[in-house]
Amino acid sequence: MLQRLAALGTTGVKNNTAQAALEAILNLQPLEWFIKGRAAKCALRLRESILWKSTKKGHSRILAVIGKMRGRVNIRIPSKEDWTNNGVIEEGETSVYTDASITLAGAGAGIYSEALDIRKAYKLTEGCSALQAEICAIREAARLIGEIDSPPGDVIIYSDSQAAIKSIASKMTRSKVALSCREALSWIRGCRVELRWVPGHRNVKGNVEADRLAKQAAESNGAVVIDSPLPPINVLKEAIEEVVQRKQEEIWQNRDDCAIARKLWPSIDENRTKQLLKYKKNPVRIAVGVITGNCAVGVNLKKWRITADDFCRECDEEEETIEHLLCQCPLLESRRLEMLGQCFLDGLDEAAEMDIGKIASFARSWKCFKAEL
Ligand SMILES: [Zn+2]
Repeated sequence: MLQRLAALGTTGVKNNTAQAALEAILNLQPLEWFIKGRAAKCALRLRESILWKSTKKGHSRILAVIGKMRGRVNIRIPSKEDWTNNGVIEEGETSVYTDASITLAGAGAGIYSEALDIRKAYKLTEGCSALQAEICAIREAARLIGEIDSPPGDVIIYSDSQAAIKSIASKMTRSKVALSCREALSWIRGCRVELRWVPGHRNVKGNVEADRLAKQAAESNGAVVIDSPLPPINVLKEAIEEVVQRKQEEIWQNRDDCAIARKLWPSIDENRTKQLLKYKKNPVRIAVGVITGNCAVGVNLKKWRITADDFCRECDEEEETIEHLLCQCPLLESRRLEMLGQCFLDGLDEAAEMDIGKIASFARSWKCFKAEL
């Protein structure tokens, strides 16, 4: 309701204008998603403090909900054919190798990537099983990739543990570490991630390096890795925003009402909204009236029983619709040429690409808006 009042106040349009269209034009996130995004960000702040408890219930679930909406991770169940090209890296692929090691001194995970310049060794919690250690290594790799602003191309994470990959891929998995690994993988943004198997002890350089790092970590007395699947807070905030924006676009694209608005404002466009809101209130009101079709155009006047017929007040020949006035009315031909640079437009789609200010000043000259003033 508040959002509606704000939208009406900003645009000064008729109060029966479709909320969905106003939200799209003004780039306001639908309230439900705005709240979800806020809740997720709030959960993040709590997580950073001691107040946070992962209860899998209520508000704390919001991070998981948002996380699930992120791009799916492609996990290939390992097979022999997977390694037929013997580690030849395809163009545009970036390899990250992971490995784990369990020695008498403890458990360690190693992550190695030449392309991303990653050489990391993590000491793991004591009592960690070999499988858990392998999964931890993949999880830490995912976290490291998640911290890179924009990883180049597709990222392939290699592990020599088929069991680890299967555990992460399995929808039935109950393993805490496998689940947290999946979560970490799902937060990687800006690239496609794939999990693949590499045979161990075959002198594949990345695998050898990751193994060496894992052994080094296992033998060391270094700090134990923090057991958290989530990337840094700023990365998460961006990711949440991205999810909410994607959802907003999806909702707008899939509507079956707002036919005129969806043609004249085909997608959520931050720049176009900014451009619109640079104008004074009256041009904004006219532009939004045209875009939503909710203005004193002939067909509406007839529908609202204000007039008996809906003939175009300019040419008196056809139905007075937004499309007719904007694109086809013959009486407006020269003004259209002068203001939009074209005598006629093919349709509303063509108008959608035009400068919003020009459309508003053209519309201002129509009798339908003049009569309103
Ligand atoms: Zn006409």
